[in-house]
Amino acid sequence: MAFHAPAALNTHQTCLNDHPAITIVDKSGVHSVSISYCQCPGAPTRDIQLFQAGLFPASFTRPKTAFTFSVLDDFLLNNLECGTSAMNYYSKIWRLTSSVFPLMVPVSCHCLHSVIRQWHQCKLYKWHGFAHKSDEPKASDLALFCPVCPQPGINLDLTISTSTRPDNTPSWLFTRTLVMDGNFKAEHLHPVNPSNEVSLMDGLAFMIGDERYKNCVQRSDCNNHLVVNQANASRQRLEATGIGGCACARHGCFVPHSMVDFQKGER
Ligand SMILES: [Zn+2]
Ligand SMILES: [Zn+2]
Ligand SMILES: [Zn+2]
Repeated sequence: MAFHAPAALNTHQTCLNDHPAITIVDKSGVHSVSISYCQCPGAPTRDIQLFQAGLFPASFTRPKTAFTFSVLDDFLLNNLECGTSAMNYYSKIWRLTSSVFPLMVPVSCHCLHSVIRQWHQCKLYKWHGFAHKSDEPKASDLALFCPVCPQPGINLDLTISTSTRPDNTPSWLFTRTLVMDGNFKAEHLHPVNPSNEVSLMDGLAFMIGDERYKNCVQRSDCNNHLVVNQANASRQRLEATGIGGCACARHGCFVPHSMVDFQKGER
């Protein structure tokens, strides 16, 4: 077996012979590993101990399945560059574990779906500087806008008054040009169990916050919207009929906190 429990998990003296076996999913395959959790007074909880050992537990109170950090990173990379779905990636892991009886491998593909979303969110927090501080990110804090377009305070200093700038400074240097576009084919069905749907980053990245968007849409009384709404009145079973947003016109970068789900036609 390629997996080694780190020393911190098995050198402590207060062992109570409680060595539960948990399923570890790694890049090298699926393994069943029994783990001696530290039971010293003041020891962290089991899920925290797994995190310290580089394992992401699929559940937090009595973990039965855990994913190594490397398999999660590997999946994110595969998903980004090769478009691999969680199901396909998991089939690969099955086949790696047992090429003769891949279906005998304990199934936990549905765990991968939820763990990978939490893992990706942890990464986003880290990449945007929210890992070691207690302040919560605000709207659009977990996304970056175009690095080339003018952004006051980031690549544009507004404290330099216009009079001190050279006369021939072109005005486009300080102008943002945005385009709006949408995809009206990206339909999204209503979830089967709405209570199971937990929003991990409501409005923190490119999509607009749910609450804020719904308030805005209800106040809209644009004629054009009303016409399109009539045409799509029959699409009751869809939660979203498309997706749209703003991007900078020169470089095509999406504007954070500007993407919306169309509910009816172009609304
Ligand atoms: Zn022991
Ligand atoms: Zn201990
Ligand atoms: Zn741009």
